Amino acid sequence: MAEIRVEHLRKAFGDFIAVQDSNFVVGDGEFFVMLGPSGCGKTTTLRMIAGLELPTGGKILLGGEDVTMRRARERDIAFVFQLFALYPHMNVRKNIGFPLLAQGMPGIEIRRRVEETAKLLRIDHLLNKSVSGLAGGDRQRVALGRAIVRRPKCFLMDEPLGTLDTEFRDLMIHELRELHNRIHATTVYVTHDQMEAMSMADKIAVMNHGVIEQFGTPREIYDRPATMFVADFIGSPPMNFLGFGGGLSKGASEIVVQGAKVAVPEVREDIAPADMALGIRPEHIRFDDGSKLRGAIYGTEYLGTTQIVAVETSGGIIKARVPAEIRLNPGDQVGLALSSTRLSLFEKGSGRAVR
Ligand code: ATP
Repeated sequence: MAEIRVEHLRKAFGDFIAVQDSNFVVGDGEFFVMLGPSGCGKTTTLRMIAGLELPTGGKILLGGEDVTMRRARERDIAFVFQLFALYPHMNVRKNIGFPLLAQGMPGIEIRRRVEETAKLLRIDHLLNKSVSGLAGGDRQRVALGRAIVRRPKCFLMDEPLGTLDTEFRDLMIHELRELHNRIHATTVYVTHDQMEAMSMADKIAVMNHGVIEQFGTPREIYDRPATMFVADFIGSPPMNFLGFGGGLSKGASEIVVQGAKVAVPEVREDIAPADMALGIRPEHIRFDDGSKLRGAIYGTEYLGTTQIVAVETSGGIIKARVPAEIRLNPGDQVGLALSSTRLSLFEKGSGRAVR
């Protein structure tokens, strides 16, 4: 079992708190992504799991064992920094086998493991080739081979695709996930890129200012963001927020936004008069001439099958994703219908979703 359990994990650098009371469990064989903007504490959390940084408080359990105070090399985990770095003067076999050689493993065992790894990555026909002559995709596979050849209990990866150009990045996202489906090693992957996170993760933790704002599957995080920060950070373009005031009473199923009545999922608890925001993703807005929520076309971004349309309303710009066939001109008046089952409601002060 290589479950990773983090309990009340905390890290302070002097007065500055980089990680505040983090709690999560990565199940055995899960691909877990820590996602958030630069400086939110992702790398610090990862380094604590790796044993490269000592926590200020809290516990880390690997496979049920408390490893909080154990050194990095006593944890049986592989830390992958960047996948692209290879030794250009060595062939594929030597590049993949290098970590085993460094461990002092006997040559015959290295040979067996390297061949097994190369087969897994479908590069066994390249073993005796020089890495400098390889195409980009194959180079990445070799680098990946070097990372997985030790077969550790868990992989920790810190922005491993950070410096790749878009084409290789997309390829490697696919390869990494495919590889994971074959070897099922518990993985913690750090990125600031929502697309990487959404396409690879079984579970995601969205971090902001040292706090995990939400932990869940990509679908839960996209469909039911726990905070306005998460709703804004995930999705491209992000969720629209339409402000309204006056609180909500228990049982309410309708609110008034910019003079238009909007049906909402039934409210479960009274919310005292407060600044609120209705959240709606661009793809959950339709044009509807009958709607009282109106505005003027401000600009469009054509994307082939859909287009992102910015509509200037009395409460600011609202972005809608609509079919590309709809012909629109700047200044045209449109009505906007919001899909009532896809709305989120937030309390603006705390930023928290109202369930
Ligand atoms: P990035 O993607 O930029 O690395 P991150 O989310 O991984 O961002 P961390 O590297 O974990 O963020 O850093 C979190 C905060 O802790 C940052 O404000 C950083 O400046 C601070 N920090 C990290 N390491 C140290 C240190 N050794 N001493 C002081 N402050 C640190």
